Amino acid sequence: MSLLKLLRPGDVIRSVADITPEFLAARGLRGLLLDLDNTLVPYHSYDDFPRSARWVEEMTGSGIRLALLSNATVKRAEEWRGRLALEGVGMAGKPNPAAFRRAARALGLPPQQVGMVGDQLFTDVLGGNLAGLHTILVHPLIDNALPHTRIARMLERRVLARHGHAWGPEVWQPGGAEDGYGK
Ligand SMILES: [Mg+2]
Repeated sequence: MSLLKLLRPGDVIRSVADITPEFLAARGLRGLLLDLDNTLVPYHSYDDFPRSARWVEEMTGSGIRLALLSNATVKRAEEWRGRLALEGVGMAGKPNPAAFRRAARALGLPPQQVGMVGDQLFTDVLGGNLAGLHTILVHPLIDNALPHTRIARMLERRVLARHGHAWGPEVWQPGGAEDGYGK
């Protein structure tokens, strides 16, 4: 498979709030691996993020199997694992596909029934596609202005444009009135 194809998300959505049990059923998915930073909670933040906590509760209540798959430190991942009542690990080593396969196995599901949800093409989408998962790209919750992130974001936009997706803060910025950011 070409690199461009491996960088193509199965879905591009605004946030995890767009994922419902019906959305998953339509795609044959029974479980999700979840990136932490900028997907479930803003990058580096330890503030409560009730919207994601509620979403996790709703998914779990509907029988969807969830686990964190984060490159954050073990300490940070542990903290949020506890607060969001999720299984899973930090320091996952994304985009190494072995990490995705292992995590899917831990959910007790075959890869084709597992989705990877994240905000980065070069870790979440690339690794998820390499492991044979359905990949779902969300807009990052905050625009972290680190130089290396800015370059990655620019490349991501170019790749996504090739796949026909407009993406970035001018398309949809979390925090708008309709978004209920942080509520
Ligand atoms: Mg992330």
